Amino acid sequence: MNNAAKTAVIYSDTEPTAAQKQRFIDFLTEKYGEGITLDWQYSDKYYGGFRLAIGAEVYDWSAKGRYRQLKELIQGISVGGEDIVPLIRETINNWTPEVIAREVGTVATVGDGIATVKGLENATYGEILLFSSGVRGMVQDLRPEEIGCVLFGSDDDISAGSGVRRTGKTAGVPVGDELIGRVVDALGSPIDGGGKIIADGYRPIEHPAPGIIDRQPVNTPLETGILAIDSMFPIGRGQRELIIGDRQTGKTAIATDTIVNQKGKDVICIYVAIGQKASSVAQLVRDLKSRGAMEYTIVVNASAGETAPLQYIAPYSGCAMAEYFMEKGKDVLIVYDDLSKHAIAYRSLSLLLERAPGREAYPGDVFYIHSRLLERSARLSDERGGGSITALPIVETQAGDVSAYIPTNIISITDGQIFLESSLFFAGQRPAVNVGLSVSRVGGDAQTKAMKKAAGAIRLDLAQYREMEVFTQFASELDDATKRQLVYGQGLMQALKQDRYKPYAMVDQVIILVTVLSHLFADVVPSAVKPKIEELLSHFHELHPEIADRINETGILSDEDKAEIIEISRKYLQMR
Ligand code: ATP
Ligand code: MG
Repeated sequence: MNNAAKTAVIYSDTEPTAAQKQRFIDFLTEKYGEGITLDWQYSDKYYGGFRLAIGAEVYDWSAKGRYRQLKELIQGISVGGEDIVPLIRETINNWTPEVIAREVGTVATVGDGIATVKGLENATYGEILLFSSGVRGMVQDLRPEEIGCVLFGSDDDISAGSGVRRTGKTAGVPVGDELIGRVVDALGSPIDGGGKIIADGYRPIEHPAPGIIDRQPVNTPLETGILAIDSMFPIGRGQRELIIGDRQTGKTAIATDTIVNQKGKDVICIYVAIGQKASSVAQLVRDLKSRGAMEYTIVVNASAGETAPLQYIAPYSGCAMAEYFMEKGKDVLIVYDDLSKHAIAYRSLSLLLERAPGREAYPGDVFYIHSRLLERSARLSDERGGGSITALPIVETQAGDVSAYIPTNIISITDGQIFLESSLFFAGQRPAVNVGLSVSRVGGDAQTKAMKKAAGAIRLDLAQYREMEVFTQFASELDDATKRQLVYGQGLMQALKQDRYKPYAMVDQVIILVTVLSHLFADVVPSAVKPKIEELLSHFHELHPEIADRINETGILSDEDKAEIIEISRKYLQMR
């Protein structure tokens, strides 16, 4: 601190004696150097003590200040299943009140959930500030004269001139097992009307991604239960697979189906809702609950009604909760629904902070906010416990335009994308996966051998069908071979249709793929393919469970089993 001709002011209800004043001067000279003058001002606000202010630093020695110190100390006690009373008693016995310096600043301007603060010279980026109204904020902008701070609560009770103090902490959220099954806000506080959450710890929302040495390749499947995805675009644990498409094309449905499919698979799921209608999130929670999926799921909700700063930090909060489990060796699935709204929230708060707008008015670092989030997904090495975070970020496109700014950014950060198309969706092909534009770049190694063998050339067959479909659209006379090809392709498309919340087990997917790709449904009209498949599956469940057991046990599809599946299905289909 620049100490030339600094003035320190003492506020108290009685004027200090000359000897007391000298003690203050000695203390201040030792701390800040020579040349300090001391003033006294009457104030009855610091009952039972005094307050000493020098520059932005304040020494609070009022009864209230000492009480606050004690309170913070007690709040800092962590309990690990022990009785808290002796702990508090011991802490209080050992406590000696200290005269601690805390930096306080003043609000210069406030509005739209943003405050600029003067006088906090040493505040750091991302630090949490406490406003006199009790609202917390996070430092997002450091300028020479003042700092910009986003508010996590209402700015109604904050006005120019009100006090702000540093906390020295960065933003963090509670983490732990108790969060499972709960709906929390972006700061980790419960919003589901349930009880208090007793956390195992507190974790900063921003954390560096694991390094290369700490990672291992993606090689274990994370089954979505959706045939169109598991067969052609398999996702592995630790992968980042983007779900992208226009509005109302079933993006959220894919994510929730995947969560439902994790039942009994020892995967913890985290669903982060950003900027969505509170009513849709409530419906989603009800749906998950009725399917028993909330037992292993955390929902982090920063809905459209929340401030932009809360929407902005929500995915980082969710990721911090996920990391806690990953570091314990658990597998986690996290859904960010959706990152387009996240980018919009970040854009609005950046514009309010007067940062220079760039392409599509987004600030220049919008790529970085998403890459540093998604890089935190990983499959840790065995030495680090082998846990994983699989991320399913969701992005909404406008009129199928994947070349817009945010979609291209996120496509380049992720390991592949599931592209959902509205024309398919409206034609009744649901899930509306566009096979040509979707890809999974690392999941191939994670697919079970049985699935790989069963899926065979399905992508090629579908591609051929799509081309043929276009060419034959206007043709009147088709030869028999072409007709058969078309019917086969239509049957394939029918087989890939799947209702919501009806995930298929891996073995069922293998049976469907083997039968469909062996042209067994050639004589079935396309519209009847789906019901026939369901019948066939129950037939296998009832009469031939040993095949499923074998495939499940070994993870491979032997030639004998494949032949048997084809034989049983052929007989069954001829019978009907
Ligand atoms: P938004 O852009 O509003 O977030 P979205 O792309 O997330 O929409 P969803 O909300 O998942 O889309 O789905 C839109 C509608 O389509 C919902 O009513 C849902 O029930 C229905 N739907 C989604 N997938 C399927 C499916 N496989 N079968 C039948 N209906 C489906
Ligand atoms: Mg949605």
